[in-house]
Amino acid sequence: MTKFHADLAACPVPRYTSYPTAADFTPAVGADAQRQALVAVAPDTPASLYLHVPYCRDICWYCGCNTGAIGREQRLGTYRDALLAEIASVGAMMRGRVGAVHFGGGSPNVLPASDLYAIADALRTAFRIADDAEWAMEIDPRTIGAAQADTLAAIGIGRVSIGAQTFAPQVQRAINRVQPFGMVADAVHALHASGIGKINLDLMYGLPHQSCGDIVSSIAAALTLAPSRVAMFGYAHLPAMLARQRMIDGAALPDAEERFLQSELAHRLFTAAGYRAIGFDHFALADDSLARAEATGRLFRNFQGFTDDPARTVIGLGASAISQFDGVIVQNEKHVGRYRDSVCGRRLAGVRGVTRDADDRLRGAIIERILCDGHADVAALCRDAAADPARLSPAMATLESLEARAIVDRRGWALHVRSDSRPYRRLVAAAFDTRRPTMPALQSVAI
Ligand code: SF4
Repeated sequence: MTKFHADLAACPVPRYTSYPTAADFTPAVGADAQRQALVAVAPDTPASLYLHVPYCRDICWYCGCNTGAIGREQRLGTYRDALLAEIASVGAMMRGRVGAVHFGGGSPNVLPASDLYAIADALRTAFRIADDAEWAMEIDPRTIGAAQADTLAAIGIGRVSIGAQTFAPQVQRAINRVQPFGMVADAVHALHASGIGKINLDLMYGLPHQSCGDIVSSIAAALTLAPSRVAMFGYAHLPAMLARQRMIDGAALPDAEERFLQSELAHRLFTAAGYRAIGFDHFALADDSLARAEATGRLFRNFQGFTDDPARTVIGLGASAISQFDGVIVQNEKHVGRYRDSVCGRRLAGVRGVTRDADDRLRGAIIERILCDGHADVAALCRDAAADPARLSPAMATLESLEARAIVDRRGWALHVRSDSRPYRRLVAAAFDTRRPTMPALQSVAI
């Protein structure tokens, strides 16, 4: 049983889906850096594609994604055209070998079948995509039926992430996402019938009016769907930054200790059901590739969270999509109109980002190992980076207080987060972050 530390659980800390994090992006790094990085990708460099669709049928009030309600249907067509233009431009510059394609959003399945076929064809034409590449998509289960499931299978989607979040009706109402369990089950059955057997379910704790009893019943329902992976995210209430979250009654949110108990409960229920704990908020069945990666020290972290995708180069396509290269991270324009103007004018859409020097890469590697494995051999990582470990002495020293609380052990240059302290991994990783943002209202809490 993990011990509850009220001050640590409520501590604002980045999720570290990259290092440096998005909080360090500035307009000084944009399209020029993006172009230089794209053309510098050597042939056969492993790369992944991430394609963002910033539209949904309805907007959930908890959502932190860059998305908006579709409104007029013709917006989808103009957005598809912009994507096709960007795919052609970027594909002409980037020579890497693509091993994974991920559609995220928003809800990519708001696109009609003809658009999905056009986009998939354009990706295959513009990029060198491996025959065995995994194609994955985040979907809204409220709109998927047999015909759309067939379309997804036909364009090559083999894995689907379904936003379920909770099955408790009063919680669903409080977050403006009403989807009875039967609706999600029908979506899963339709996907299975179409041959898409790899199902990820996203669930959440810390939602308004959510109790531990709701966690138990939602997980029991989720398990009947036998997902191969589950992500159990803590709701990050950041109304100062996300206007739509102001619709959520802050007084109805569980307090820090209740959030902690919900997170612990989820961990207990999924591991008892045979799922392997992955990182600090994912679970996977033993035969899933994520579980195999975790078991063999081949787990990674990128903008989609924990992944078995080893590619260090990620090409982001679409409004707000982020591209990651060894030396730079660049985010596309978030505003759809301005994004469209750029890419339809044959210009790259990168508008903000951050360069990564050798020190950033070393710290990023240490942070990644702590989050993924719960331990890091700092001396070995320094050796790989031809760096003097002495520069990390201050970071190692700051772990003393967490060691005193029996959260982490230090042995020389090696550190190990105790197995019963898994939820505190982000805090341990933060010791190596020299750029940590100082705006608590803009960061999620540790648990
Ligand atoms: S469907 Fe998903 S992306 Fe769209 S608003 Fe809801 S949580 Fe956000």
